[in-house]
This record gives sequence, structure tokens and C-alpha cells, in this order.
Amino acid sequence: MSDVRELAARAEKLDAADELAPLRSRFVLDDVVYLDGNSLGALPANVPGRIEDVVRRQWGELRIRSWDESGWWTAPERIGDRIAPLVGAAPGQIVVGDSTSVNVLKALVGGVRLARLAQGPGRDEIVVDATTFPTDGYIAQSAARLTGCTLRPVTPAQVPGVLGERTAAVLLNHVDYRTGRLHDLPGLTAAVHAVGAIAVWDLCHSAGALPVGLDEHGVDLAVGCTYKYLNGGPGSPAYLYVRQDVQDRFDSPLPGWNSHADPFGMRPDFEPAAGALRGRVGTPDILSMLALEAALEVWEDVDVAAVRAKSLALTDFFLECVTSYVPDGLVESLTPAAHGERGSQVALRCSPKLSTSFEQGGTPIAGAVMKRLIERGVVGDFRHPDVLRFGFTPLYVGFGDAERAARVLGEELR
Ligand SMILES: *Cc1c(COP(=O)(O)O)cnc(C)c1O
Repeated sequence: MSDVRELAARAEKLDAADELAPLRSRFVLDDVVYLDGNSLGALPANVPGRIEDVVRRQWGELRIRSWDESGWWTAPERIGDRIAPLVGAAPGQIVVGDSTSVNVLKALVGGVRLARLAQGPGRDEIVVDATTFPTDGYIAQSAARLTGCTLRPVTPAQVPGVLGERTAAVLLNHVDYRTGRLHDLPGLTAAVHAVGAIAVWDLCHSAGALPVGLDEHGVDLAVGCTYKYLNGGPGSPAYLYVRQDVQDRFDSPLPGWNSHADPFGMRPDFEPAAGALRGRVGTPDILSMLALEAALEVWEDVDVAAVRAKSLALTDFFLECVTSYVPDGLVESLTPAAHGERGSQVALRCSPKLSTSFEQGGTPIAGAVMKRLIERGVVGDFRHPDVLRFGFTPLYVGFGDAERAARVLGEELR
């Protein structure tokens, strides 16, 4: 029990010294330890009031006038510019809209077309992270069929070895959704560029948790969702980044009237808009989009470097508490110990030893363990069949939360 006293005291000290701690009051939270912000971020406190205004006044009273007067029409690029500093992008390169899945299609097919414009039609391979979140893999298969490419699924570590003069585009995840491993965005982007191919990054598990540096590292195209670390709300629209100097050649596979140079000209022929706007498709989902816009206001005076420092301190401390509280051999961390290889989550694999005490009626082991944690006010999630995931959102998770989560886990597993 001296462990508990010592770790709880340290947590208290760390929380007292944490400059980001006051940000928690910008969210609607209770005394639950919420470690699932990497799946659905918590509700920012200013969102309900904004949605009320958007619905009652902008829609209810201004009606059609709101497309101009309330800035609805330009919301995708305006909100894109709000996300830009969080991922290291200058303004004018990000549009918000559609789901991540749809944006992966735009980016991959658009990426193959860019590669062929620059390098010729011999570019007929798409390389994809074989360990990716399934939707990216499914979309990559379809993008390969649409472009007549062969798909090469390999692990991120194998990517440099398979690149060559046939590579058109490479789709990679900045942080692995399962293990929390952070991949080498600068190094892999440089390797992709060295063979004249296009680098497409999925930022779902990094944006809002750590610096990305899209412009600095010369990433060509990127996509990400906004309902994880950006707290945009369930199903909030995703975003697409198209680097400034490829925008005039970016040829979207989904050209809609919103990506037309003159959308209200209603002309039969398609002529793409200038800039990142060609990443738009159809009428934006204004309610979700303006909830996201309000949610992004919590970032106003927040430094992403400070968020990253706290994220690493939190995951370090959580891992230390797990080591101290959980009997040896019952869980194993899949999340790299090295800071340079870690995102903002900790993934713990349950030992088969736990099966006898937890598994009942076909429930996967990690599901059964997580259910017990949730009943005790510690909310994470699990990935089939044996991985417990704990996401650390530095804007509202504290060191006391990390200590409590590890303590409850230890008590349940013992
Ligand atoms: C969360 C996540 C998605 C989600 O895709 P949607 O189309 O927004 O449902 C896609 N890819 C990755 C890597 C993710 O982590």
C-alpha cells in the first residue's frame, strides 16, 4: 500500500504543477476517468450554446440568408484554417468535410494522379500500411482498382524497402490506432519523395495530441478525423490537407459542385476551383461543422508542444503506475517505451492467463476486463480480442486520473 500512497502523492504534485490543468474546465466532464478521447473526445462546454444559436437563429430565423450572413458557405475552408496550426500547416491548405474514409479516397486517387503527372503512367503501385485501421485498407483497395494500380500492403517498417520507380502513392498512419506507436513522418515522407512518389498521411490519432509538422516535412496530402483529440463531436466532419504547391494539379476523384470554380454558374462542364477548395465535394453538413468550429475554440491559446510534453508525462506515469499496481505478467504494453515512437495512448495486451477469470460466453478477454473498469468509472476501450486501450487527452486528463485508472486495473486483475 505504500506504493499507492507514494504514487497518489506524486500525482497530486504533478497535477498542481500542470499548466494545462485549468483547460479541463472548458469541457463537460464528471468524476469518471475518461480515457476514451482517442475514440470520441469529450464535449467542450461552449458547444451546446453555439448549436442552439445555429439551429434557432441561423437556421430558424435567417434561414437561406445564413449561407452568406452566417458564413455557412465558407465554413469548410474557414474551419480548415483553424485546424491548420494544430497540424503545422499554413492557411489555405485544409478543407473540412465528409468522413475520413471519403477523404482517404480523394487523397489516394488524387495522389496517384499527381504522381503520374510528374513521373508518367508507369507509376502503378499503391503502398499501404498493412496494420492500418481497416477503413483505410478497404478504401486503398478500391483506389487501386479505380486507378489500375497494384496494392502493396506492408508494415511501416518495410515501406522504405518496397519503394521504387513504380510507386505512385503511399498511405501511412502517423499513429497506429491499436498499439499507439508513432511512426517516423519526416523520415518516411523523405523516403517516399526520394522515389518521386506521393506521401499521404492519416492523422486520426495524432492531430490534437502531438505536433505533426505537415508543411515543415513536405507532406503532400493528409487526412484526419475531428472527433478524437479535436473533440468535434460524434461523426464530426474530417479534413483534407493539400499542400500549396500541388493544389493546381490536384485532381479529385469526387469533383462536386462545391469544388467548382463557379459553383453557382451551374455549368455542365467541370472546372476546378483554385486552391484547397477542390477538396470539397457537396453541400457541407453545417450543424456538425459548426459544432466542430466551436469545439476548436478551446485551442485558442494552447501550445501543441506543451500538449505533447504533458501527453508523454501522462503516459509515462500511467505505465509506471501499471507496473507498480498490476501483478507481473498479467498485461504487457504494446506501446513503445521510447518517446519518439509513442502517440498519446497506452495499449495493454491481456495475458492468456487472465482468460479463466474473465472470459465468459464468447466475450473477448479485453472486452470483459474493460467492462469491469467502466463499471468502476474508468472508461477506456478495447480492440479485439485482447488489447485494452487507454487514450490520454492532455487537455482534460490529469495525473490523478492516470493513477486511479492504473489502480482500478490492478485491483480488478488481482
Ligand atoms: C478513426 C479512424 C478513421 C475513421 O474513419 P471515418 O471515416 O471517420 O469513420 C479512419 N482511419 C483511422 C486511422 C482512424 O483512426
